[in-house]
Amino acid sequence: MQASGALLVGWLDKGLMAMYSIEYMKPILDELLSLFSGEIHTDKMNRNLYSHDASIYELVPEAVLFPKNTKDIKSLVQFVNSYKHTYPALSITPRSAGTDMSGGPIGNSLVVDMTKYFNTIHSASSTTLHVQPGVFMRDIDPLLLKHNAMLGCVPASRAINTIGGMVGNNSAGEQSLRYGNTDRSVQELKVVFADGNEYVVTPLNQRELDIKIAKHDYEGELYRKVYQLIEDNYDLVKNARPKVNKNSMGYNLWAVWDRDTGIFDMTQLITGSQGTLGVITDIKIKAVPKAKHSGLLLAYLTDLKYLGEIIPLVMSHQPATFEGFDDITFNLGVKYFKTFQKQLGMKEWLKQQSQLLSSVAKFKGHLPSIVLMIEFEGDTYQEVNDKILAMQSDLHGHKIHIRTEIEGNEQDSKPFWQIRRASLTLLRQRVKDKYASCFMDDLAVQPQFVPEFFPQIRKIIRKYKLPATIAGHFGDGNFHIIPLMDITDPAEQIKLEPAMRELVPIVLKYGGTLAGEHNDGMVRGPWLPAMFGDDMYALFKDTKEIFDPHYIFNPHKKTDASWDFSMNHIRTKGGAGLIK
Ligand SMILES: Cc1cc2nc3c(=O)[nH]c(=O)nc-3n(C[C@H](O)[C@H](O)[C@H](O)COP(=O)(O)OP(=O)(O)OC[C@H]3O[C@@H](n4cnc5c(N)ncnc54)[C@H](O)[C@@H]3O)c2cc1C
Repeated sequence: MQASGALLVGWLDKGLMAMYSIEYMKPILDELLSLFSGEIHTDKMNRNLYSHDASIYELVPEAVLFPKNTKDIKSLVQFVNSYKHTYPALSITPRSAGTDMSGGPIGNSLVVDMTKYFNTIHSASSTTLHVQPGVFMRDIDPLLLKHNAMLGCVPASRAINTIGGMVGNNSAGEQSLRYGNTDRSVQELKVVFADGNEYVVTPLNQRELDIKIAKHDYEGELYRKVYQLIEDNYDLVKNARPKVNKNSMGYNLWAVWDRDTGIFDMTQLITGSQGTLGVITDIKIKAVPKAKHSGLLLAYLTDLKYLGEIIPLVMSHQPATFEGFDDITFNLGVKYFKTFQKQLGMKEWLKQQSQLLSSVAKFKGHLPSIVLMIEFEGDTYQEVNDKILAMQSDLHGHKIHIRTEIEGNEQDSKPFWQIRRASLTLLRQRVKDKYASCFMDDLAVQPQFVPEFFPQIRKIIRKYKLPATIAGHFGDGNFHIIPLMDITDPAEQIKLEPAMRELVPIVLKYGGTLAGEHNDGMVRGPWLPAMFGDDMYALFKDTKEIFDPHYIFNPHKKTDASWDFSMNHIRTKGGAGLIK
């Protein structure tokens, strides 16, 4: 049930009943209602609906809020500030589409859904997109296409996620091989910080920074403290950046201040902060040109063990994108391709289905262990074709047994993109009795280390008997390893900590990260000290406290996470959570 101002009385009757079970909110909720023009839900159904994301965790909120405008968010922050001392558990968890795999958008106090009212698209051009954070990526894609443009950081979850979540998580996707994570595209943000005011956050030159720092107000103090923190620890901060193409762990301190360029860019800190530093209310982000022509080379490996060798070889051809998935995913994709009918529309679905079936028929019942999707782009069809043929010939000249197919144009390659992009959704929705359990789901190292790195990871998978599926952005050395487990079973749960303990030193040895794009949340937050060292972790913690000294934003995530808290909140029910 959803209540607007006009429906408030009817809603209050039921809402109040639910409210009494939330004892500490009782005396203060009336005040919040009077400050808020959006909707506040305290009924059991909504609270349960919002207790999950795509992670292994479950946190039931006390209320779900739908702010109508920035004034609502400002009032909310001021409200929480005024009661935080009396009710220490009171907090704000921003949430967009809730497709996060780390527990980022769930919380047990006030969850704030941005998708209902913060969904205005201000403008879209070939170079810039200006939107509110609750806009779904599926609504942005066609708009940019009219300008032959796209975002360079769109995740595989593009059919179900929002732009606010991408900024929140510092997301990335198939195009990130060239365009990096979301932080590389963000141009300007508006954010409501802990003082309850909205600020424009944008890159500053030295003169502009000096002006900000000289201000005797909240904003001045924020800039002064962040600048000082980085200046005082400059080498430590710069060296802490993981040596990978993609990273979404920690706070992006290393990208904020650069002595050489004299640019101070706090958008970098907000991007990837998972709602722990403030609530984003407005986003300007760079659009990039969409290539005139593209073509896909599909390469099929008979054994996963060859993957390590193949990745550097493919990368030497500089593909535009390089993705892949395993046989479990392929099987599910073929079996449940019918479920894409609604999303694709009947005509397009029929086309893709028939294309897929003719590709599958060639395997005569034996699907390959790994499907590699190697995409090339160019200004002409000929240019693309030449690149594909060169890649194909190189692959066949290699000693590994490999089969290839050229899905020459974009239309032919569509069903494979569909399966790749929906791979995790398929796992989450179609594998019965097991849950796609994300904890080692986003490892990344530089591609040249993959041949050494990958076998060591497979050893851990075998040792802990984790029947895992593998998909990922192989060109970035970014692997989505998703064990299918009954995560409610304590015998399965106890595997998580020792497996993570073994993973960390391997990832560190190659300068990698536990999260190329899925961020820390509750699952990797506890491993930040192990990954970055105590000194850098202390700076992350200082950063959190500069922005949010009273911990009103998104507790139990990133530097505020603890393994015990996270393990005590493993999801109890199955299901895919709330996906819109
Ligand atoms: C099937 C599937 C495939 C996926 N593939 C990818 C992939 O290829 N690449 C990738 O990077 N991720 C992927 N993900 C993870 C997830 O979809 C992305 O991180 C996505 O960008 C999150 O968007 P969302 O709208 O669901 O955000 P949410 O999950 O709602 O939020 C994400 C984080 O941002 C914070 N946040 C949200 N809105 C705001 C705001 N207005 N202000 C401040 N903080 C905010 C939240 O607190 C949370 O911590 C996948 C997930 C699924 C389920």
